[in-house]
Amino acid sequence: MRIGIVGSGLVGSTAAYALVMKGIGSEIVLVDQNRLRATAEADDILHAVPFAHPMRLSAGDYEHLSGCSVVVIAAGVNQKVGETRLQLLRRNALVFADVVPKVLNNAPNAILVVATNPVDIMTHIASEYALRLGAQTGRVLGTGTTLDTARFRTLIGSHFNVDAQHVHAYVIGEHGDSEVLTWSLATIAGLSLNEFSRVRGLELNTTMRSQIDDRVRRAAYHIIQGKGATYYGIGSAIARIVDGILRDQRSILTVCSRIDEIEGVHDVTVSLPHLLTGAGVLTAIPLAIDDSERLALQASAHVIRQAIDSLELDRL
Ligand code: NAD
Repeated sequence: MRIGIVGSGLVGSTAAYALVMKGIGSEIVLVDQNRLRATAEADDILHAVPFAHPMRLSAGDYEHLSGCSVVVIAAGVNQKVGETRLQLLRRNALVFADVVPKVLNNAPNAILVVATNPVDIMTHIASEYALRLGAQTGRVLGTGTTLDTARFRTLIGSHFNVDAQHVHAYVIGEHGDSEVLTWSLATIAGLSLNEFSRVRGLELNTTMRSQIDDRVRRAAYHIIQGKGATYYGIGSAIARIVDGILRDQRSILTVCSRIDEIEGVHDVTVSLPHLLTGAGVLTAIPLAIDDSERLALQASAHVIRQAIDSLELDRL
């Protein structure tokens, strides 16, 4: 199983490393406009193979993506001093105008997994190019709030001293400031968090909840302040998504995809739990969240839709 990664900077190369460590796929091709960087990353990761799983790694051009089942897109430009979010978005939209058609033309059967930020909007742009080239939008998805959901589960698990893999909780909406932590649906061992608190004799008061909320919502700010970028969490999330696709695991993950309507907001790319198959996104799953979370989800979807409108996709 061949996996392509376009953009072999910190996120792309960490995803490749995570794939090797977990033995997902059999071959990884790294593509980057900086070929020296892609070659160096491929060589460096290749030297970890004897300590992990058999894997072929190489740096290549777009034609080397031929035959890939999945292509991860983590190519992007960084914010310049004084640049607005919209200006950055426009420059990354131009990167996608270059990258996405080349990926789709060289790997027409691949599922595209977008990681470039702002991931919801970049996924929408990628799906727009896919539509123009006659590809199905279900084959284009973004990492969305997969990472935020992992952060949420980790912190709830730490609070109750329970394995995070046994915490069920989702972060939905925008991968960003307006994201929605669905506390009303969070469960451990089938119990709501209030019930689990009672059973375990551990408090989870409003202050504790708001601390967890802040550490999930503002995680990227804190990490970037300390080390300049985030890549281990997202690299692992990408490996998890790719595994789910390659092995047709029918996983439920909070990736983002382009949907017709959510909470009255039309044609928007938003993160929700999705049923993910070997053919990409099968369906988004609407959640029975409470009224305040529903309003927050609507506001979050509006934030994304407004950013899409401001881009004037027809003119790209
Ligand atoms: P980086 O600067 O280390 O790597 C970006 C790479 O993209 C560079 O190697 C660059 O050469 C390449 N690139 C730029 N334009 C290109 C083009 N036209 N064609 C091919 N390659 C091109 O950045 P990074 O830290 O790896 O982050 C990559 C992206 O992932 C950013 O947009 C970042 O914000 C995003 N990110 C997303 C999440 C998430 O949860 N989705 C988390 C962390 C980072």
